[in-house]
Amino acid sequence: MPASESTGAADDAGREDDVGAGQEWGSTLYRVAADQFDRAGALLDLEPEFVTRLGHPRRSLVVNFPVRLDSGQVLGLTGYRVQHTLTMGPTKGGFRYGPDVSLGECAALAMWMTWKCALLGLPYGGAKGGVRCTPGELSVGELERVTRRYAAELIPVIGADRDIPAPDMGTGEREMAWFMDTYSQMVGHSVFEIVTGKPVALGGTTGRREATGLGVVYVTEAVCERIGLDLREARVAIQGFGNVGAVAAAELSAIGARVVAVSDTSGGIVDHDGLDIAAVARWVAVHGVLADYPHADHLGPAEVLEVPCDIVIPAALEQQITEHNADRLQCQLVVEAANGPTTPEGEVILRSRGILVVPDVLANAGGVTVSYFEWVQDHQRYSWDELDVRERLRRQLRAAFTRVTDAADRLDCDWRMAALSVAIERVAEAARVRGIYP
Ligand code: NAD
Repeated sequence: MPASESTGAADDAGREDDVGAGQEWGSTLYRVAADQFDRAGALLDLEPEFVTRLGHPRRSLVVNFPVRLDSGQVLGLTGYRVQHTLTMGPTKGGFRYGPDVSLGECAALAMWMTWKCALLGLPYGGAKGGVRCTPGELSVGELERVTRRYAAELIPVIGADRDIPAPDMGTGEREMAWFMDTYSQMVGHSVFEIVTGKPVALGGTTGRREATGLGVVYVTEAVCERIGLDLREARVAIQGFGNVGAVAAAELSAIGARVVAVSDTSGGIVDHDGLDIAAVARWVAVHGVLADYPHADHLGPAEVLEVPCDIVIPAALEQQITEHNADRLQCQLVVEAANGPTTPEGEVILRSRGILVVPDVLANAGGVTVSYFEWVQDHQRYSWDELDVRERLRRQLRAAFTRVTDAADRLDCDWRMAALSVAIERVAEAARVRGIYP
């Protein structure tokens, strides 16, 4: 297969301003990821060879495919899979469904997956994929057909030891089960280890569903110990009440922290004395969204970031803390549960105000770490119990945080640059000793 099978980002027309030659991955998010890589590379004095080898995705696949709707009409969809580096082993990363999914977005997220896996010491390169669609407008049957066709389209580039997808925004256990079944039908036998984040009945691991949110809490605990903040006394505001945000909220309130605000697409709710997160979760389970929750004050979905508190956890989507609102955050710590929630401009303002940022590649690495545990268990045909999963996750994340703080001291930089530096050094060293084929 050639280095890039991309058909270019012409499919993104209407979203990207300028998609000239060599700009295939152009998107705001990709520029953020590339800018971070450039800055960490400069800090490390990274040799130009490794800037060339790691600065762009190694392989991209863009597919257009038809799906028959329940009405009988045919919907044309575009799907992506981007593999950032093939140096570290198979690639790993989720696939998402959303109206803004693009090649550039997948490329940025794939690069972050590489750094996340390297920081955590997992034997993977980064990947990411997705289908541009609006899942809320599709029936269950239509979503199944989208997922099965997308899985079939990816056959040339995926495999249990080549590229292992997982859930991301808009996808979950259900989609992973369809994906696993489709792949297994095509190769003629059950291959549990082709995806992670599966139902336990199909070789999923206990603890995967909660892993990212739980990991956010384990990292936050370690950070609080370091900066002398008592997490059990802390007030926390969380943007996003999905797989990551709702679990983080539940775990935080279980250990005694006061979750004062949460939000979803329908809006935000706030109670300065602390929300009853179990009651909020029950409300969402029945009504689907936070809107009209009766026991709190209401505010806009982004305003939750500006509520006075100790810790803000963006756990919704990218580019939420920007030059337009960073000066209004009233906290001492931002823990990036979402991928890329802070723009470079927003981060400059946070830094100037002394607000610490725990970078996404560390804060939300619990998901891929437990995905790795799932993959290992699938290969071993042996299941670990939940306590085992949780303890290993906590140990692995705390060790990664120590690597980050050690690098921050050594390189005299913030935690994001430290985390990226540790990761880039690892991948560059592997690339160095592997050399270049031929
Ligand atoms: P999800 O789809 O389960 O939940 C997303 C939540 O954010 C929902 O509550 C949604 O209503 C809310 N939301 C969306 N737009 C919003 C807005 N503008 N304002 C406020 N809330 C908004 O997704 P998730 O799996 O929880 O993922 C959240 C973030 O965490 C994403 O950035 C994802 O890439 C990242 N992440 C997820 C995992 C994982 O294992 N699920 C792992 C690593 C990183």
